Amino acid sequence: MCCWTRARKNARYWRLLSFVEWGGKEESKRTMASRPGFAYDFPWAKMGKMKYAIYLPMVYRGLVSPENDDNDRWHFHMSMIVLARYVMAQFFISLSRIHAITEKTRIQRKGIEFKQVDREDHWDDYILLQYIVMSMVHFCPGLGFKNFPLFEKKGMWQLLLLHVGPTEYLYYWLHRLLHHHTLYSAYHSHHHASFVTEPITGSVHPFMEHIMYTANFAIPLLGTWMCNGASMAMFYVYLMGFDLLNAIGHCNFEFVPKFFAKFPGVKYLLYTPSYHSLHHSRVHTNFCLFMPIYDYAYGTMDKTSEDLYDKAIEGKASPKTTPDVVFMAHGTELLSMFHLPFAFRSFSSRPFTTDSWLLKMLWPLTLPAVVALRFLPGVKAFVSDKHRLKNMNIETWVTPAWGFQFFIRSEFKHINAKIERAILDADERGVKVLGLGALNKNEALNGGGAFFVQKHEKNLKNTKVVHGNTLTAAAIIDKIPENVKEIFLTGATSKLGRAIALYMATKKNCRVLMCTTSEERFETIKMECPEKFRHLLFRVNNAEEKVEITEENTTDGALKKSGSFLFNRLGSFKNNNKNNKEEEKEEKNDTKMNYSSGKTCKHWVVGRHCDKKEQSLAPSKTTFHQFVVPPIPETRSDCTYTDLPAFRLPEKESKDFKTCEMTMERGCVHACHAGALIHALEGWKHHEVGAIDPEKIDVTWEACKKHGFTCL
Ligand SMILES: [Zn+2]
Ligand SMILES: [Zn+2]
Repeated sequence: MCCWTRARKNARYWRLLSFVEWGGKEESKRTMASRPGFAYDFPWAKMGKMKYAIYLPMVYRGLVSPENDDNDRWHFHMSMIVLARYVMAQFFISLSRIHAITEKTRIQRKGIEFKQVDREDHWDDYILLQYIVMSMVHFCPGLGFKNFPLFEKKGMWQLLLLHVGPTEYLYYWLHRLLHHHTLYSAYHSHHHASFVTEPITGSVHPFMEHIMYTANFAIPLLGTWMCNGASMAMFYVYLMGFDLLNAIGHCNFEFVPKFFAKFPGVKYLLYTPSYHSLHHSRVHTNFCLFMPIYDYAYGTMDKTSEDLYDKAIEGKASPKTTPDVVFMAHGTELLSMFHLPFAFRSFSSRPFTTDSWLLKMLWPLTLPAVVALRFLPGVKAFVSDKHRLKNMNIETWVTPAWGFQFFIRSEFKHINAKIERAILDADERGVKVLGLGALNKNEALNGGGAFFVQKHEKNLKNTKVVHGNTLTAAAIIDKIPENVKEIFLTGATSKLGRAIALYMATKKNCRVLMCTTSEERFETIKMECPEKFRHLLFRVNNAEEKVEITEENTTDGALKKSGSFLFNRLGSFKNNNKNNKEEEKEEKNDTKMNYSSGKTCKHWVVGRHCDKKEQSLAPSKTTFHQFVVPPIPETRSDCTYTDLPAFRLPEKESKDFKTCEMTMERGCVHACHAGALIHALEGWKHHEVGAIDPEKIDVTWEACKKHGFTCL
């Protein structure tokens, strides 16, 4: 279920934040060291995104208006190098965040969190710095650092020798110096604040440290030039090669093959991801840049390096774990694919919004993704993120389908097959609870998950399927004040509408004006209500009329006899299908609906779209309690609109959260997700599918409070 109201509010918040960045306010999140030293921040630290204006001359002279002289050729090649550096960084970020690729040989099990994402948001400062420094040298009058040929073979060897000689050696000692407590607390602790690394962590240092590194890395480039071996290729090879090795060292999964790593001598010449990960986990060992030879020579090599490499490459460093809870999301709008954790790290760490020019530019890329996900054979639900909550491992999986597909009846079989496969996989792995998020549990699609449980109840040994809507209903009800004696309910015969109506009548002794065109569906719900509360349920459809349906008017004898709640529709998916068709019919009749019956009621519980004209019927100071997606437009300034139900997770017990759940704020989840988590925390042994059991609303709500979840 998407939270559109929150999306609008969040969009405003992030726009404001981005204005602050553009406007140039201090961003304190950059500073990490306990006693920041001189020139800690980059000169453009206060400029926010305006720092990218530094690239404008390069782009203009190199790409927009080249005059084909040496200076323009320089700008052109610098543009290409800068672009390639961003592309390579993005490639490694995506690679290291795709669990299917990395989970077998992951090194550190712990995940990263928002704090780290924010601190490393400025990872690209070094690209700007090095572009500026190289260009300053190029344009330095009288120096002659220009007119380079495209390629010079001997220069490649010179470059290599100058790197492995002076640069690696100087880096080793500079790095050891930076670990002296004075420099460490003033500068280098910034890099070490990341215990678990991402590929771009390698370039996250204070300004002064980058100045030192850049001076050291200039040696191979200037040295090659002095030896007459300079070429434009030299810049591509050195800078790209440098970024490649830096990303490898920080990617947190081992992939250097054994035959290569164990080849005699290689361990002295090239580090591995596990080798440098030890520098972050144990801090004062493995100081080298890329070549461990100096660590061996000076005795700073971590003795567990080879052990860790062996464990990691064999999948024993951080063995794959079985999640306790899986929450199944799906694509919503096409641009939502860029909000996946392995797309844009910074974007996915903030509530989803389409309010971005970059996103709009990337829109065409979504089309091949739609075709691939839909038609490539073997595509199944994939892991998008992993977290921890209390003592549970939780994972978010994504059904490979987009929002629009859930409204195409011919797609139902295809989507259900993907969800069914995920449920069976989860059960085989021992997952305790699988929560169906958003449209994955759509009534029309699979009867709120009942279809899967009905089909596989005997086969499911471990996994409970949970739609989580009991908690959603509880959260909506909680927002209705205790003393309310009448509510006006639209979407009254939907899964949530039915549960709310029955609960309000039986537990709160509250009159419920159920706005529905379907007398039959109303009757069915009324007959589920214990007899002594039935007088509280009214069907309203046309102007100012309460149509009280008495038992004499009903047609369903079986329901009459039961006189009790029909909580569980297991084994009745056919009935659900029938109901779905009726619901669709009702939706078509929506235009005939008249909401004027609510004009004396100050609590509207809204489960269907409600336009400005319809809202105008509500009396002044009405509260619109919403469970409709998307939320209704807030057209009444004299009324209150509640948000769709969502929960903040208990903060101290939530770990490894680095992404936002679509439009949710950080650390918050949709009510149905929270419902699945509560189900697992309580160890409930029933499936929560099909119709909501109103008797379970209170117990679910109490459990939610007990575990420290806060309703937003
Ligand atoms: Zn260090
Ligand atoms: Zn590092």
